[in-house]
Amino acid sequence: TADDVATPSKTKQIIKRNGLVLKKSLGQNFLIDQNILSKIVMAAELGPNKAALEIGPGIGALTQQLAKLAGRVLAVEIDQRLLPILDETLEPYPHATVVHGDILKTDLPELFRQHFEGMDGVSVVANLPYYITTPIIMKLLEEKLPLENIVVMIQKEVADRMAARPGTKDYGSLSIAVQFHCEPELVTIVPRTVFVPQPNVDSAVIRLRVRQTPPVEVADVDFFFAVVGASFVQRRKTLYNNLAARFFTKENKPELEALLLGINIEPSRRGETLSMEEFARLSSALRAHGC
Ligand code: SAM
Repeated sequence: TADDVATPSKTKQIIKRNGLVLKKSLGQNFLIDQNILSKIVMAAELGPNKAALEIGPGIGALTQQLAKLAGRVLAVEIDQRLLPILDETLEPYPHATVVHGDILKTDLPELFRQHFEGMDGVSVVANLPYYITTPIIMKLLEEKLPLENIVVMIQKEVADRMAARPGTKDYGSLSIAVQFHCEPELVTIVPRTVFVPQPNVDSAVIRLRVRQTPPVEVADVDFFFAVVGASFVQRRKTLYNNLAARFFTKENKPELEALLLGINIEPSRRGETLSMEEFARLSSALRAHGC
């Protein structure tokens, strides 16, 4: 529509008119392409009874499109200078609210109570500041918020790691954390030319459908992730060596070999070859062993 800010000329005009010097340190790369924006908002499956939480609205390029589809939009922006601009670009959308703050320090359960009561579902939709992609995703997953989808533009390399399958070079603790809580799906790969200024990395849009229940049964989730983390501490080392270093002493180390063989996992394998189901089996066995 006529008030959309995501065109090269409008975005540059707003930046110029406000004398805004964009901050690289805050990951400020603004979207100027309606086609990519519509792919992002379509992937979020919004509607009049659904809400969207946006992280880092910038000058409102994505916020406007979310507001056209969602019944409520809440955006958290750290850069105070953008607030008056957002007031203008979101003027036609009274159901879109901006709060000033650092997403990593925001009390999200409280924000959900204040803004999303009565809504049928909430999705996070964002063109993320890349310098804090992983901390943001981990915060969203660990706070157990009632989320349906997380649709985010991120560095392509990070999207590859989130969606990686066992036995590939990209597979690691991030893959397992994401896949334990969500089903990842690549929406589209994004060229650098859709941003002002252009970033120096390739980007992708990924949808994480938040699972109602994890795909494997795990009695102690924190211990499960401690085992996963330990298994990837030194990627070149065998599972046996990584686990021995973390959970065993020189004296009781021989018990680890029997434990692994007992659950059908070859001690010489590397952590990166284990499926989530195998990590679940491994963490139960280690726990039962008193680790
Ligand atoms: N959504 C806009 C768009 O697509 O054009 C801007 C996206 S830009 C990649 C990232 C935005 O996140 C910037 O507006 C930046 O100021 C904001 N930001 C950076 N760190 C943040 C933080 N810790 N909390 C909230 N917002 C942050």
